[in-house]
Amino acid sequence: MTQISIQPSCADDYDPNSLRVDQALQRIDGVVKPVAGHERVAPRSALDRILAETIASPIDVPAHTNSAMDGYAVRAADLPSSGVAELRVIGTALAGAPFPGRVESGAAVRIMTGAVLPRGADCVVMQEHAQRKGETAFIGSDHKAGQNIREAGEDLREGDVVLEAGRRLSPADLGLLASLGVAEVSVWRRLRVAFFSTGDELRSIGERLREGEIYDSNRYTLYGMLTRLGVEVIDMGVVRDRREDLERAFKTAAESADAIISSGGVSVGEADFVKDILQALGEVNFWKIAMKPGRPLAFGRVGGAVFFGLPGNPVSVMVTFYQFVQPALRRMMGQTDATEVTFEVSCTTRLRKRPGRMEFQRGILERRPDGHLVVHGTGDQGSGILRTMSRANCFIVLPEDCGNVEAGASVNVQPFEGLV
Ligand code: AMP
Ligand code: MG
Repeated sequence: MTQISIQPSCADDYDPNSLRVDQALQRIDGVVKPVAGHERVAPRSALDRILAETIASPIDVPAHTNSAMDGYAVRAADLPSSGVAELRVIGTALAGAPFPGRVESGAAVRIMTGAVLPRGADCVVMQEHAQRKGETAFIGSDHKAGQNIREAGEDLREGDVVLEAGRRLSPADLGLLASLGVAEVSVWRRLRVAFFSTGDELRSIGERLREGEIYDSNRYTLYGMLTRLGVEVIDMGVVRDRREDLERAFKTAAESADAIISSGGVSVGEADFVKDILQALGEVNFWKIAMKPGRPLAFGRVGGAVFFGLPGNPVSVMVTFYQFVQPALRRMMGQTDATEVTFEVSCTTRLRKRPGRMEFQRGILERRPDGHLVVHGTGDQGSGILRTMSRANCFIVLPEDCGNVEAGASVNVQPFEGLV
């Protein structure tokens, strides 16, 4: 009988030498720092960029006391506690075209939403609550001073902090900056991230597959994930499993990028050969992480760049990217406002799991007709099966010590929306 040697492999569920996910995260966090460099950009170019300064409001918002409704600007003291007052309409105030005069007792000014409240007036009566005949407005009781009026500075006072440094700027933020008349903001410079795939079996789109060859998909998922993150991507293509090719790729990447991501070539056996190269070019640790998928992971420094060596399997690439690389890159980008969204829902299918490592299973969150949000597994959880990754809309996060999950049990999910 042939002797089968026991090698650490992805099929083992428990390995005393492996690192827990939180330990790996901590180690990465201890090493990565924001890259130096800011630039000034106009609001439109600031979308999804990371703010590098704290923005204080240069003005009061609103800048002038104005009307919140279409109606009549009046003096509250002129309005009756019962019955109807007759007021003389002396002019009009439009947004952008203030009424130049003053509202004296017995007078009203026709006013539109956003128009500056005329001097003398302290109350806006909605047009639905007034009757107009010729130059006279008839207004009843139950109105108070201050109603339907937006006071100057009610939203923001000059000098109030509106946006904190470290924030990823959203569409609402762009509008906010514009509403304050801010023409330019300081943002962190874009992070440059180089990535390549390794493997002699890989072909690119457009090439013909020969026996044993597959198309390189990792460069496409990485391209998508990195582009979403807002970094400058440097696609270095497929690198063959040859010492000189790999060495050249790492050197070139380290010269041009802040971070380098490779996929494949870090599993046991292959790693020895990659290890030699990386030891000469920098400082890299090869970790076995107590997680599935995505156990082998290399992390360290190549030249001046931070290096992540991800596993080769397509789903492992995505899982390790979201769990380890994305938080690290965010930190390098200067982002401090990222919040990871995880919540508990009931799982409608049975999930197979052995204790010993953390699992990130692919799940589909759905709203049941009764309004409850529930999750079910996508079925096949093989780490090479991108189809289920594409169908999934969340990770079901199963802790290290948990075993099989029975249908109906509660599980933690990380929705892709928000995480990505
Ligand atoms: P490796 O870690 O290099 O041993 O790769 C593990 C598995 O992932 C192998 O089946 C590879 O063929 C596959 N793989 C590696 N790189 C890629 C890639 N860029 N695209 C698709 N599959 C890949
Ligand atoms: Mg390989």
